[in-house]
Amino acid sequence: MTAESSPRVVVLGGGVLGASAAVELRRKGADVVLVPGGRGASYRSFSWLNSFGTHSAEYHRLRLRGIDRYRSRFGPDAGVPWLSFGGAYHAVTPQRFDELAAHFATSEYRFEEVAAEDLVAAEPRVQRSALEGTRIVHTVGEGWVDLPALIDHLRLQFTGSGGTVLDGVDPVLARIRVSGDAVTGVGWDDGPALGADVVVQATGAFVPLAVRDLGVEIGTRSNPALLITTTAFDHSLGSVIRTPSVGVRPAFDGGVVVHADWADAEVRVQGDSYAIDEDVAVRLLAAVTDVLVVDGPLRAGFVGVGARPVPADGLPVVGPLAGLPGYRLLFSHSGATLGLVLGELTAEEIVDGTDSALLAPFRPDRLVTHPATS
Ligand SMILES: Cc1cc2nc3c(=O)[nH]c(=O)nc-3n(C[C@H](O)[C@H](O)[C@H](O)COP(=O)(O)OP(=O)(O)OC[C@H]3O[C@@H](n4cnc5c(N)ncnc54)[C@H](O)[C@@H]3O)c2cc1C
Repeated sequence: MTAESSPRVVVLGGGVLGASAAVELRRKGADVVLVPGGRGASYRSFSWLNSFGTHSAEYHRLRLRGIDRYRSRFGPDAGVPWLSFGGAYHAVTPQRFDELAAHFATSEYRFEEVAAEDLVAAEPRVQRSALEGTRIVHTVGEGWVDLPALIDHLRLQFTGSGGTVLDGVDPVLARIRVSGDAVTGVGWDDGPALGADVVVQATGAFVPLAVRDLGVEIGTRSNPALLITTTAFDHSLGSVIRTPSVGVRPAFDGGVVVHADWADAEVRVQGDSYAIDEDVAVRLLAAVTDVLVVDGPLRAGFVGVGARPVPADGLPVVGPLAGLPGYRLLFSHSGATLGLVLGELTAEEIVDGTDSALLAPFRPDRLVTHPATS
């Protein structure tokens, strides 16, 4: 790559992070091939846009920028049916409330306690019984996005701007080609090869496997996860609702999306396949009716099981591997919140050659061990 020429970039993975990076790279004039492959976590994500929880100031700043990008891209009222800034209500234990209140006391994050009757007035379908023994936090700046719809939108932008999509090969099986400390492209055993100045590895929970192929270990604690989207029913829900036992949010085509940590723990993993017993789905749907008044039976329209990508310290892994500057990782467990901003910052770093201060705490090296030296 010369200073004058556009970089040739291959993006491996077509989930929200890969699709977002591909669009932003193309927008900045890079010559981009997107290799999307199959459907990963982005197709079974709760995708609540948030900076909730007692995390570091650096992570908070990045996630705030992440939410802001949705607002600036799609307007303060969202403007598309698959994105909402309807806020969130969190019914938490009194002890958790004290931790959160102390954490957010010095922050400008909009965090306020509301009474149960205020929540029920705003969301009349919420069951008072689900709130007993809790304190309720309202975070008005949060929302949710339907990632499959966002990815469709990004893919259209990408192809519309002249980006190339390579279907028919699996990005998870791509081998990175290297000469000295320079990336030269990617190739597949008995398959095609693509020349590139930069390769972006955005294959979700499979990122550590790809890195291992280069003799490098990167810490991961990706875990099995379950998500259910119900068929459409009359619920009028506008916000994300979280209780100690379940999270529920509106689905853009009329049902609700439900996720619970206890249900994730029930997912069975056998080799590369994930499964649940039917009673787990039944119990997760029952958890919805504990929280919402539902007229008539609730049915699962979509049941998604598989790995949730999570770096070992729970924070995003973004940027080049040390010693191999043309090989960049995009690996995050808050990929819905961060999808747009990480694509944008990645494109800036690649095309403009800058180093983002926002990304400095999230470089891969902090989690890297080389088997030969560990
Ligand atoms: C249950 C659940 C709840 C979540 N809740 C939130 C939330 O509330 N807020 C938030 O910000 N984030 C949330 N996330 C995380 C967020 O969805 C992910 O961080 C994001 O989708 C990762 O996108 P990605 O592009 O890195 O990877 P992925 O979407 O996993 O996929 C990238 C690429 O890897 C390959 N791939 C991955 N898995 C497979 C597979 N099984 N088969 C074939 N190819 C595969 C494909 O090429 C795919 O295109 C949640 C995730 C899950 C699973």
